[in-house]
Amino acid sequence: MSHRIFIFLGIFLSILLLPVTLAAAPADIRANADRMEQHIKALSAFGANADGGVDRIAFSEADLAARAYIRDLMREAGLSVRMDTAGNIIGRREGSEPGLPVIMFGSHIDSVPGGGNYDGDVGVIGAIEVIQLLRDNGLRTRHPLEVVSFTDEEGGLTGSRAMIGKVDYRMLSVVSHSGMTIGEGIDAVGGDPNRLDLAERKPGELKAFIELHIEQGGFLDAEHIDIGVVEGIVGIRWWDVTIEGLANHAGTTPMNRRWDALLSAAEYILAVNRVVTRMPGGQVATVGRIHAKPGAPNVIPGEVVLSLEIRDLDAAKIQRVFDEISAEGRRIANAHFTPIRYAEINVASPPAPTDERMRRIIAAAADGLGLSFKFMPSGAGHDAQDMALITPTGMIFVPSVKGISHSPQEFTSANDMANGASVLLRTVLEIDGGALE
Ligand SMILES: [Zn+2]
Repeated sequence: MSHRIFIFLGIFLSILLLPVTLAAAPADIRANADRMEQHIKALSAFGANADGGVDRIAFSEADLAARAYIRDLMREAGLSVRMDTAGNIIGRREGSEPGLPVIMFGSHIDSVPGGGNYDGDVGVIGAIEVIQLLRDNGLRTRHPLEVVSFTDEEGGLTGSRAMIGKVDYRMLSVVSHSGMTIGEGIDAVGGDPNRLDLAERKPGELKAFIELHIEQGGFLDAEHIDIGVVEGIVGIRWWDVTIEGLANHAGTTPMNRRWDALLSAAEYILAVNRVVTRMPGGQVATVGRIHAKPGAPNVIPGEVVLSLEIRDLDAAKIQRVFDEISAEGRRIANAHFTPIRYAEINVASPPAPTDERMRRIIAAAADGLGLSFKFMPSGAGHDAQDMALITPTGMIFVPSVKGISHSPQEFTSANDMANGASVLLRTVLEIDGGALE
């Protein structure tokens, strides 16, 4: 054969192989840490404060500017961008099979006052990174993908509540940190507070939801673990606990003739700690506020009102902790003749477990990338707890240095952010390939 034919064959073969050599095998694709860090840095300019953190309260000028930046980033990654009536920013990439439900992933970019640059942001930037990686590697999923940046997470999960059709309409008249009511805020970002029903996603529309987020606690950092596979978002219950004594003269009443409510409260607080620490498990209970009446140095406290908060992944466990605490409380009340009453405060949020299959998919994704992982609860609330009510939901945690969050000192390394996005990509691809079926 002549040289010419060889050359011709060579060109022919490389054209044949071209699509294969361009696209890396999905398993090998890793997120670009530098690109993610650049995006996080650019986002941190919106609402930057002197302490190095952000004041990017939902609906503020800074939030509006950051929202525009996120829409641009989504478009650059090839997403078609829309906003629903709750102001949630949604970037969509079509799949190859028409009619399949959406795999959705994302988080939020609003902050608390004096917040940091990673809470929520890592999840939105990481989600856009996943789209960019699919594009760079010429990969198309079967399912449509949607990246979401939820409205006003910090002010009460406003955007995700609307998406699951569980808006408390009274909430719309609550004045948020922006100075506007939540309703006015939704209007200001371009939503329609009167038509939040249109933001609702119907059952069957979504295949799954995944949120990448910083841990906001210190376990992963302290134990040098790359990835947290979230088992769920803990439920919370609150009570006002009233302890009744008898206010009396602190000088003339002998020690054996007192009904001192504050003394009983002190024993009660120790009992709360004892009960919750002697049970196995990750439950937590806190007395965070105490008010003694009448509150004078020369009067024996006649009444104490204190707060009791209990959190756990399991609602039955919360009840069990409460039952044991109230048994201890009865003992204290009887010993000191100081009756104890409970009034439950209606802020309760039930535990929101993540989908067990999703946990396994995320753990396998981390493992396949050679990353260490552990299963863990989330002590903080997230949009994922809402989404778990309408679709199989999973959450991926990356380490927060020293567990600091809601603070300008919040920090997650570029490498850890990239690990999270790599796990997110692999999770999306697994689900797309049928891992949930
Ligand atoms: Zn968050």
